[in-house]
Parts: sequence; C-alpha cells; structure tokens
Amino acid sequence: MTDTDQIRTAQTLARQIRELCDSADRTLRFMEVCGTHTMAIAEAGLKSLLPANLELVSGPGCPVCVTEKIFIDHALAIGTEHDACLVTFGDLVRVPGSSGSLATCRSEGGRVRVVYSPLDAIDIALSEAPRPTVFLGVGFETTIPTVAGTLKTALARGIENLFVLCAFKTIHPPLKILAAKKDLDGFLLPGHVSAVVGLQCYSYLPADFGKCGVVAGFEPLDILLGLRELARMAVSNSPGIGNEYARVVRGPGNPAARELMGEVFDAADASWRGLGRIPGSGLRLRAAYSRFDAATHLPVEVPAAEDDPRCLCAAILTGSKTPDKCGLFGRQCTPDDPVGPCMVSSEGTCAAYYKYGDQRRSSNG
Ligand code: SF4
Repeated sequence: MTDTDQIRTAQTLARQIRELCDSADRTLRFMEVCGTHTMAIAEAGLKSLLPANLELVSGPGCPVCVTEKIFIDHALAIGTEHDACLVTFGDLVRVPGSSGSLATCRSEGGRVRVVYSPLDAIDIALSEAPRPTVFLGVGFETTIPTVAGTLKTALARGIENLFVLCAFKTIHPPLKILAAKKDLDGFLLPGHVSAVVGLQCYSYLPADFGKCGVVAGFEPLDILLGLRELARMAVSNSPGIGNEYARVVRGPGNPAARELMGEVFDAADASWRGLGRIPGSGLRLRAAYSRFDAATHLPVEVPAAEDDPRCLCAAILTGSKTPDKCGLFGRQCTPDDPVGPCMVSSEGTCAAYYKYGDQRRSSNG
C-alpha cells in the first residue's frame, strides 16, 4: 500500500469512527492497555483524527512503568552488597530508585549490563563467574517465555551464578480490576501479549463486565481498525472480543510459550504502581528453578520506598489522569531528568506526551 493509499484508508476509518460515535449519546472511553500502543497513537497523531466524544486513556501495559520503585532499590542493593552484575533491558536503566538509578550505579563503577535478549545473561554470567549475575525480571507474557527458556538452558548447562530478580506480571488480573470501572467502555488489547495468551482468555470482559475488547497491531491503520471495532461494539451495545491483528494473533495464542512459562514459573501476588497488590498477578520460580531466585539467594535489607507525591504516574497508569495534569510535566520532569517511570520508558505515557504533544488539545484548539 502506498503512502497515499494509507492516508486515504486512515481518513476513511476516521470518518467511520466519527459516524459511529455520532450515534452515541455520550462520550465513549477506551483504554489502550499496551504502552507500545500509547506511543504509536501519539507518534501517528491519531487522537487528532478522533471525534470529541471518543476518549483514549492509557493503561498499565508499560512493564517498566508499573514496576514499583522498591524493585530498583532491591536490585541496586543486591549489586552493591553481593558484588553482582545487574543485567537488564534498556528501559529500566534510567528509572529513578530512592537513591539513584541503574544508570547512576553504572556511572559510579557498578556493573550494569544492558541486553536485548535474556539469553545474553548466560554469556555474561559465564564471564562474571564466580561473582553473581542477576537478570532483572520485568515484563509481561511477551518477555516471560524467553526468560523461562533462558533458565531452562542455564539449568541444563549447570550455570550456578545466574539469578533472576522477579517482577514479572501477567495481564488478566489488572484487566479484571480495570474492567470493573464504570467509566471505561472497552479496551484496545495488546498485540504482542495476545500473540501468547490468545483471544478466548479475554471472554470475561464481555461475559462478566459487559465490556468490549479488540486486539490491534501497532501500525496506525491497525489501531484505527481496532478503534472502529470498539466503537461499533460500544454503540450497538454488543460487547465482544475482536481481533484486528489476525496476521499475528490466533485464538489459542501460543500454547508452547505458555507451557514453557508454566514449567518454570508459578502464579504469585505482585505489586503494581497505581493498582497496588493484586493476587495472582505476578510470577515466582517453581521449586525446580528456585536456585535462580535472587531474592532468596542474595538476601538484602530493602527499606520501604515512597514515590514522589507530586508524580501522577499511578493515576496515569489507570487512566484516571493525563500527563498534562501533572505540575512537574515538562518542567521538573523531562526525559533527560525524569521524576517518574512514565517519563523514562519508551512506552511511557508522559514520554509520549512530551515527545509528540497532546494532539487532541492542539487539534481541538
Ligand atoms: S510528568 Fe513526570 S512526575 Fe509527572 S506523572 Fe509523568 S513521570 Fe510522573
């Protein structure tokens, strides 16, 4: 499809969304659950195409953003007290802890390594031996199977100095909490996570909460297709689960990936920034893999950590506030000097607002 064709198709989809919303007697409010969607919507300027009575709010799908500050403190304490090499994906590096970030630690001589694949942690552990190497386990169902595969490999190879500090999270428990909110009509469901978890598992949205959900890809046209289907369901009061990303997401998802996750990890309670402690929303290592548990084998004291009370990340991650409501936005808090994780992450809502602006406001005057 040429650029011109894409623009024409986007205009047609936007018109169809406007026509659907014209027949609604209220404002429709949809949550984009995934941080990649948040950034893609901002980058493409999609909000400027939407009618005034369709509101898009961000959700808790940026793994770095929902990870609590105490996790950074915990990792830094392990690095210091156990002379450990900390291995992480890049987004976590600049997230502020109580007394600095992983980047600060690295600038002061700490060993912090950024990887693109958890498998790289094996080579790092081999080069660091006998000192411990700790993979910082942050992510959703998209990331977790690759970490499970890494631990299976490490177990088979008898690597004894590799550990994981677990803050993995799963998507359904928080989604059930958000689905109970009366001011949300539906969810733009995450493409990558859904490729693993599938479609049927979202059936509780229409069945238990009367809410619609549509899986969408990350191109502008994918997102507009998803929003059109959400609007159609909401306006016709026929909630269901749709799939506008069929080229990647299938009904059953990826059973092999889920089996691998289930072999290595078990469900556990987890704490979410903005949502608090949610039963069964995290993961812990099963007994056969417990030797990799950094929290057990590299013990440290970690005091309770408080977020800056002026930072609205918790409210932003639950769709209750937008970044422009934060008094620090763009002044004391910028991507170069972030106060909260939503300004750090490449999937963060504040970073998206900072980089691309509040297009709804600019388009509507
Ligand atoms: S602008 Fe900064 S301080 Fe404000 S909510 Fe966003 S990350 Fe937090």
